[in-house]
Amino acid sequence: MTSSMVTVRNVADLRGVVDQWRADRLVIGLVPTMGALHDGHLSLVRRALAECDRVIVSIFVNPTQFDNASDLALYPRTADDDAAMLRGAGAHALFMPDVDAMYPAGFATRIHVGGVSEGLCGAHRLGHFDGVATVVTKLLIQSRTDRAYFGERDFQQLQVVRRVAADLDLPVTIVGCPTVREGDGLAMSSRNRRLPVEDRKKAARLPHLMQDAVEALKNGEGSASVLPRLRTALEQTGFGPVEYAELRRADDLTRCDETYRPARLLVAAWLGHVRLIDNLPVA
Ligand code: AMP
Repeated sequence: MTSSMVTVRNVADLRGVVDQWRADRLVIGLVPTMGALHDGHLSLVRRALAECDRVIVSIFVNPTQFDNASDLALYPRTADDDAAMLRGAGAHALFMPDVDAMYPAGFATRIHVGGVSEGLCGAHRLGHFDGVATVVTKLLIQSRTDRAYFGERDFQQLQVVRRVAADLDLPVTIVGCPTVREGDGLAMSSRNRRLPVEDRKKAARLPHLMQDAVEALKNGEGSASVLPRLRTALEQTGFGPVEYAELRRADDLTRCDETYRPARLLVAAWLGHVRLIDNLPVA
């Protein structure tokens, strides 16, 4: 399907588009992304198209959520390809603001979400979830969307977004969507394209080693032995450092033992210069 997709670059133009849709009583869906789109992103777009009358995709590489300048500088930017993919998928609007449009001179507000943003990625990427919560809140307000779509690949981010939407009474439904994987099991990610060929092969071991750990937990083995074994297996594969390999409650990400259900196994680990994350249900 090919649609006539409108591209807007500032908040006033976005409002113009959205106001008309709202006047027509259309249900609006938003898919926030940082671009370099792949099938994981498109699965969110397709879900939004199935549930909404109009779908906005935002592409904004948000500087305030990067704790590492080189990661920001190296983040892939493929705007023309992205726009073509979105047009092909049938998205109705592409919102692609530049940094000044999102953070004009004098910008001084930051949203901090307690609880779910602490630990895991929050402990290793300082300020990351403040950046995420602030930009997502802005996008939700700017787009006046009814529904917003986020991937479970970024499981902690999804919980942070759910929390901020609930706590600030934002009139939006947050929809979590399953992780989309490559044929060999690796979770799709814009960062995967930075993996050299040999590392790309090693990266595919991550979900398989995690699945072994999930099976062991389901068979009643204690996390005190399963998690260190997973860490060691990752290190022997070539990952390092392994930032965390943890079992958490799926609902609020607090710590739990192997008997709790539903739980989630979450891992972040470096492979060369690329940081990979993944998570699997222990249900
Ligand atoms: P990003 O562009 O990496 O910030 O991701 C934008 C949105 O797409 C986030 O909600 C991600 O969780 C989601 N996403 C990215 N990769 C995947 C994937 N492999 N499967 C499902 N959702 C994904």
